[in-house]
Amino acid sequence: MEQEAIDELFSLISGAKHCITLTGAGVSTLSGIRDFRGKDGLYKDMDAEKIFDVDYFFRDPSFYYSHAKDFIYNLEEKTPSVVHTTLGKLEERGYLKAVVTQNIDLLHTKGGSARVIEIHGSPQAHYCPDCQSSAAAEEAVLAGKVKERGFMEFAEAAAIVQKNELPRCGKCGGVVKPAITFFGEGLPVHALAAAEKEAAAADLMLVLGTSLTVFPAAGLPRITQRNGGKIIIVNAMETPMDASALLRFKDLGTVFEGLAFLLQ
Ligand SMILES: [Zn+2]
Repeated sequence: MEQEAIDELFSLISGAKHCITLTGAGVSTLSGIRDFRGKDGLYKDMDAEKIFDVDYFFRDPSFYYSHAKDFIYNLEEKTPSVVHTTLGKLEERGYLKAVVTQNIDLLHTKGGSARVIEIHGSPQAHYCPDCQSSAAAEEAVLAGKVKERGFMEFAEAAAIVQKNELPRCGKCGGVVKPAITFFGEGLPVHALAAAEKEAAAADLMLVLGTSLTVFPAAGLPRITQRNGGKIIIVNAMETPMDASALLRFKDLGTVFEGLAFLLQ
């Protein structure tokens, strides 16, 4: 039964003209990364609201960096899950056109995806709030030109943070900020526009590990449907769009191990 459904899923993906995916925290919890908002989330024992508060960051950036050291700047310790690596393979085979993600852990890139649109911002670029703009940093991430455009790359920032030091602007010495969207900041408009364009172009969207309760992510499958595309949902919890999904699965691990097998 399950295998038949996974076979059907694979034929839908391989038969689609423009298949994209929208991913949320559930994809990363498989890699041992805790959901910010889930019941075992960071909120419980870490003050995520304070860590990612933009006003607080400008008062005391060391609070963010000391807390983020072991869950954002430790990418070397993190392994992409079967979801990340299979999405990478699907893109390599030409079946998947883009990954739109709410996650800020860079694991899609590490898992082999080339076209990743990060709608909650990205730690790939760090910018100086005094000399540079967050919008320019965001554009540089989307264009894959972080270093060329004068922003500090993730790896450089991570090496500094791991030494318990603060990453600083080469011009003015100010502490740089990651291009992650903090509480109190506007959404990354360029990434969001790119995501909406992909959603409109998609004849198939795989909605993975997100409960579709937080905008802007929650609006993207509706854009696909309004343009005549279909959505497939894989999520442990219910979502408001379950009834209109073409296929609905609960367990990401089972589905993606099945797809990985079919891709061998
Ligand atoms: Zn500066």
